[in-house]
Amino acid sequence: MLDVYAPVVHGIGVRDHKEFAEDSVRRVARHLERASWRRDSCPTTCDGFAIGHVHLVDDGDRSLVVDPITWFDEIRTPSRWRAAWWFLRALFVLCAVHLLVNGQVLLSAPSVAGLPRYVWRALRAMTWILLLGALTIALAVPLTLAVALVPRARILATDALGWTSDPETREKVIARVTSRVVATRARHTVLIGHSQGGAIATNACHVLEPATTTLVTMGNGQALLIPLRASRGIPWTSFAALVGAMIAYVAAALVIMRTLLLGAIELTAAVVRGLALLVRAATDPGAAPDHVAAAGAGIVAAVEALALSPQLFLVLIAIPVVAVTVLVYARLLAPIVRDIRHLLDPAIPGIDLCARFDGVSHPFAMLGPPRRVATITQSASLLDHMLYFDNRAEVLTEIERWITGAGGERTPDPRASVARRRMRHLVRSLRAARAVVALAAMAIASLLVPSALAAATIGGAAYAVMTLVKHLAWRAVQRDG
Ligand SMILES: [Zn+2]
Repeated sequence: MLDVYAPVVHGIGVRDHKEFAEDSVRRVARHLERASWRRDSCPTTCDGFAIGHVHLVDDGDRSLVVDPITWFDEIRTPSRWRAAWWFLRALFVLCAVHLLVNGQVLLSAPSVAGLPRYVWRALRAMTWILLLGALTIALAVPLTLAVALVPRARILATDALGWTSDPETREKVIARVTSRVVATRARHTVLIGHSQGGAIATNACHVLEPATTTLVTMGNGQALLIPLRASRGIPWTSFAALVGAMIAYVAAALVIMRTLLLGAIELTAAVVRGLALLVRAATDPGAAPDHVAAAGAGIVAAVEALALSPQLFLVLIAIPVVAVTVLVYARLLAPIVRDIRHLLDPAIPGIDLCARFDGVSHPFAMLGPPRRVATITQSASLLDHMLYFDNRAEVLTEIERWITGAGGERTPDPRASVARRRMRHLVRSLRAARAVVALAAMAIASLLVPSALAAATIGGAAYAVMTLVKHLAWRAVQRDG
């Protein structure tokens, strides 16, 4: 009898079984071999596992099979325009989920001691809301056309579409995983899922034996996919309201941010001018009263100009618009959000690894069970969702920990958390270095070249180079660590 069975379930966009096995199972196996496991050959009686599976045994002679499970062949292909329409709907629902998650930050009441942290988090959430809302509105038409016209883009949309909107496909995909686990009859199962594979594995867990099952997910898409599924029942009028609310929101947020930014710049300039006048007052005592009066008048004028500006009037309108928009969202999505937390928690041991810059798992990191969710640094880049299996320090170490600990008494192994902390420090230093180098390049360039645009371009190029350096340094650590 097999001691531990570790099926690995892929996310959207995979269409090649062997490639997936190489990218996931081989890497997991190689990492296990660096720990207490060694590779074993395929026994003559071996049957029922997929191509690319790997046998291992550990020091205590426990047997393990890591098995790549693909489900893409279960997905039915819809017409291109049906896929495009579905994608357009999904894009706005996904954006709404992100906005709602960030909106929750604003709604949480801070304590007095926690006020600075709250303000920082609220500003960050506002920026995310603005960025995501603006991006969605700007990209809605081009991306929808891409889904209709570019086959590769349509595959990504169709995978999620089949899983969320086609009950028959959904059942088949879940059964693909559960039937393999049941047929294997191992003493313990460690289900591993990436992205949508994490959502599939989470659903499979509901029908598996909790006492002998562990779930490890990376970049779990469950918190995005549940609302997509639930949104099938939302009528098109509510959908139109959602789009309208989003446009109002972005417009209002832009007005507020622009006014705050310009106001801050004008006030700072007035204060600097005032300070200069005060310095002159100190050096020239004869004319001191005049200078002090001029400094005061300057600041008062700036405050007056701001208080009477039409922008401030716009902000006074914009703030209630934002509040109403949040209410529209909250009302529209309240029934979905109510059940979401429950659906995200399979109530079994394991971990959900969510990278800080992974847009797919970000809502999961906010709404998922705190006991299971672990936020990791990954490479802190927009590629984070694709890099989980490359991440030895934070991800493969964690998978090895749960496989090795499967079925035993679970004494937490500090290795994984130490590795996570080290990565956080490393990536933080690299990002700080990138900021310093980019600013320094821009400052030096602005002294040497007359055009501000050229200086900004040089700063941007330095930023891009340092981004590459950060990525290469991250790769190097994953190779040697
Ligand atoms: Zn075999």
